[in-house]
Amino acid sequence: MESIDRIKQVQTIHGKIALLQGEIDKKKERIATAEDLLEELLQQSPPLNDRIMQGRSLTSKFELDVADMVDKITKSQKQLDKSTQASEFNGLKVQIAKFEDEKSSAEENLMLILEKIEEINKQIEDLTSRACQAKEQLDEVRVVVGDEIAEYQQEVTSLEGPLQEARDVTDPELLELFDRLFPGIGATVVVQAEGKICGGCHMSLSSQVVEKIQSKTAVVCCPICSRILC
Ligand SMILES: [Zn+2]
Repeated sequence: MESIDRIKQVQTIHGKIALLQGEIDKKKERIATAEDLLEELLQQSPPLNDRIMQGRSLTSKFELDVADMVDKITKSQKQLDKSTQASEFNGLKVQIAKFEDEKSSAEENLMLILEKIEEINKQIEDLTSRACQAKEQLDEVRVVVGDEIAEYQQEVTSLEGPLQEARDVTDPELLELFDRLFPGIGATVVVQAEGKICGGCHMSLSSQVVEKIQSKTAVVCCPICSRILC
């Protein structure tokens, strides 16, 4: 049956194109994965930079606090040096001790903040180097995979002419049936009946169906999976 041979030809070319398209999609996926990785790394950078900014403003605050305390201690020390009365002397001593205490705590906070900033700076450095690597990988993947995609794309394009030719000579009704089934079934829309078994779903076919196939007078579809039998 000639029309079956023609639809089989259509199926063969559609199948090849689908395979190539599948490969192209996989390769595009590889590029997308590399892009996602880079994007994910780049997104981690702004929050770290924000924390550095916060850290710097806290550093300034604690530095001012320390300077302020040093100032107060110096003034109180001068007053202390001039003091003649015991009560004033003791009062200033207590005040100086309080200022010293506040100065120490501001210095401690300053140290902690500086350590934290250093830690975040290391994280930024690490992130930057990882992002650089990811960018290099992405560029590489884009070049290599890009070439491969172009190659496959070219093959797909070269099949478009023969496909159209094959479709043009195929019975429109058969073509319509094929186009309806192909997206779900793929390149096994037209299958051979193997004895009394459908070559697609491997279920048993009735004798009437088998006879119809053998008579080659009409298009026969598998009653179970709807594939075109030949
Ligand atoms: Zn079947």
